[in-house]
Order: sequence, then structure tokens, then C-alpha cells
Amino acid sequence: MKVMVITPRLGRFTPRTVKFNAHTSYLCSFLASKGLDVIVRDCNWKGSDTILALNEAAALNVDGVVIVCNNTLVYGKRLKRIVDTCSELRQGRKVSTIWLTGYMATSFASEIIEYSPEAAGICDADGIRWIPNGMDQGRKIGELIVQHSLFNDDHPGITGLDMSIEFEPEDRLSLLSSRSCNSKCSFCAYNNGQGVRWKPRSMSAVIRDIEFGLNLFGDRVITFSDNDFLGNRRIAEERIEEFCKGIKGLGVPINYSINTRAECLTPAALRRMSETGLTNITVGLESLHQKTLSNVYHKKVNYRHLLTILDEADRLGITILLSYILWQPFLTVEQLRFEVEQLIRIGRWRVPQLLVNSFVKVVPSTPMERQLEEKGILTYGLFQRGWHFINKDVERIYEDLNQWHINQKRDELENAISNRDTSSLTDVLATRKIEELAFLVDRLNI
Ligand code: SF4
Repeated sequence: MKVMVITPRLGRFTPRTVKFNAHTSYLCSFLASKGLDVIVRDCNWKGSDTILALNEAAALNVDGVVIVCNNTLVYGKRLKRIVDTCSELRQGRKVSTIWLTGYMATSFASEIIEYSPEAAGICDADGIRWIPNGMDQGRKIGELIVQHSLFNDDHPGITGLDMSIEFEPEDRLSLLSSRSCNSKCSFCAYNNGQGVRWKPRSMSAVIRDIEFGLNLFGDRVITFSDNDFLGNRRIAEERIEEFCKGIKGLGVPINYSINTRAECLTPAALRRMSETGLTNITVGLESLHQKTLSNVYHKKVNYRHLLTILDEADRLGITILLSYILWQPFLTVEQLRFEVEQLIRIGRWRVPQLLVNSFVKVVPSTPMERQLEEKGILTYGLFQRGWHFINKDVERIYEDLNQWHINQKRDELENAISNRDTSSLTDVLATRKIEELAFLVDRLNI
């Protein structure tokens, strides 16, 4: 049985990521270990287009397509385009079996079914949520996706992958060491009943993946793409020790990056991981304002501890980036000013995205959605949610910032994107970030 697994394209501003999607690689490896002939199209990694990949699947006469929707950017128009194309392909009998999987597919499951009941089946590790008419033959693929749990003894990790993946020299191997997250932020899909509890994979399985990756693809940088590599501080120490011993046992130096929360880290942990090649950490911070964190995002952050961690990481040459959400519906002008001041203090460069894009994206059935609905500021769109600012002055500043971006040299950005020239795009975006911050500083009289 021939199956194409597709990771959808996430944005025009990313010409080509060097990271082959981890969720996709584990799923492909598992399906291959069950005897399926797997073709993979990670559209971000190869810089291709989701719809082209779907049409290619039809031309190749595959028995089934699986679309991995494990990113909040598979939202709104982007998700609609995917669902529309799936519907066309199934109705035209070009592909008889299409499965949508991943937390964005399941978060919007009822809307997808209502909008286009024939488009695709929806399933995840929790089970089959929906199987449309005429997809009985493809049920086996759905059942395998449900069986695909990284915690099952028979899961091969990434060892079912082969050279057909065609890594290029600068590509990174992306791995998973755990699932879910111990912080339950109000806007996160992990807080709409999908995430269950944080659970680590066994370190021996993780080390086996690294060893396999090194043997098959040669020396490379490893990215751990799970949300919370360490889980909590109590477990972290043991986990780091086991990991570092495993890496040492391989006898090959590696460089790696992780995602985690500041609470899980200590200066000693940073020093230990730095010895084994840790170069980058993405920390889920979300806000620099205590009230926003506790009342809006339902998240605890100890700033004193965060600053200690940042200092130690800087000293060790480890880069810490912060995931951060500036614009949220309850923001006041004073809070906005405070956020921008703190951001400058902590280092604007630590937040990768443009601030204009740093706003709350509401996922269905989360506490954030309920909170906004109760306040009467939630708006509904197809496969998306919108909201209004409570404070009209903040809304004006946000709109002005948006307009400022529109008025900036669009050509420069468009050219850099269409030329797929990563270095010029990086320069254009970096300049835009500096100027954008200056705009806010000026507007807020900082
Ligand atoms: S820290 Fe990140 S992954 Fe964890 S709950 Fe918050 S938003 Fe979700």
C-alpha cells in the first residue's frame, strides 16, 4: 500500500526550513515498519506547496494521503485551502483516502466535518474521530495512525526512515523526547483536552534515534522539537544525566537544541548540557507582565529565575530564544509600555517573530476561547477565531503598527521571498524588526 505523508506549508516568510518535521518522521517511520510504502512531502523542509503535494499524490496514484496538522499555523485560510483541496480530490476520485491528523485537525474536527463531510477522515493517537463515506478501504491507515504512539514498545522511533528522505548537507535531524507540556497555558491546544499529561520517552529510545540518525545521515545538528524536553525540575536532573551519559556513550560529538520552560532549568543543568553540545533553547515565556501571565495566560513564571538562566546561558554561549505573545485582548496601554520596556531590557533579539505577528491565536475549546466568549469579544470565522481589544487605545496602536508594516517597502520583502534567498530575507526581516520596535518606542513615548 502506497501512502503519501504531507506536512503542510506554514508560511511565506520561511523559504525553506532545515528541519525535517519530527512528528512526520516518526509517523513515516512507524507506517514503513508496518509494511507501507511511504512517500514524504514536508512542504516547509523542501520549500514546496501543500496543494502541489496533494496533486502529486493524485498523479502518483497513491492509496492514501495523511496530512499532519501539528502546528497552530494550520489555521483559518490555510486549513480551509487544505480541506477544499481534499474535498475536490476525493470527489473527483483522484485520491480515495485522506486522513487529517495532529492537534489542529482534531481541534477543528467538528467544523471540518460540518463544512465538508467528504473531505477527509480525522484521527489522532486518541482514536478515529471521523471517517467519511467511501473511505472504508483506507480505514487501515487511520487505525495505524491511532496505533502510532511513541510510547508503545513496538514503535521503531525513527529507525524506519531510510535514505529516500534525501537530507541535504545543512539539514537537521528533528527528534521527539516527550509529549505534551506541564504548563497549561490558557490558549494552548494542550489545554483543550488534547494534551493529556507530559510524558517522557525513555532515554534509551531517544539515544537509539540519535545513533540511527548519525549512522544514516552522518554528523549533524539535532533539534528536539517536543515542547518540554525536561518536564519539571525534579525529573530534569535525572533526565539530563541519563541523556548526557547516552551521548557520551555514542563517542561522537553532536550539537543540539531543545524547547523547555525556564522553571525546569538550573545553571548547573545548563553547564552539564553545554558539555554535551547544547547550543540553543527555546523557552516558552509568553509575556513579561505578571498580570497577563496569571490572569490571561494562566502561567507561572519566576522572572528572577529566568534572568539567572539567561545570564548563565549567555556566559556559556547557549542561545536562548523566547516564545512570546505581545498582543492579547485585555492589554492596556500601561501594560503594553511595560512589555516593550522589558523586552528591550531582556533583549528584543530573543523574540524571533515580528511583534505585529505576536498575538494570541485562539484554539477551540480552550479556556482562552471561553474567557473571550464570556466577555463578548470573540468572533467566529471558518477554522479560526478572532477577537477585539477591550482597550480602544491599544487597538489603535496595533492597527497603526499594522499599517506601518503595510507601508514599508513591500517590494524588498516580496523579492527576498520570491528569490528564496534566505540571507537577504533574514536581513530584511531583521531590519524590519529593529524599525518596528523603534515605531513602538516612539508611539509609546518610551
Ligand atoms: S508552554 Fe507552550 S506548549 Fe506548554 S502549554 Fe504553554 S503554550 Fe502550550
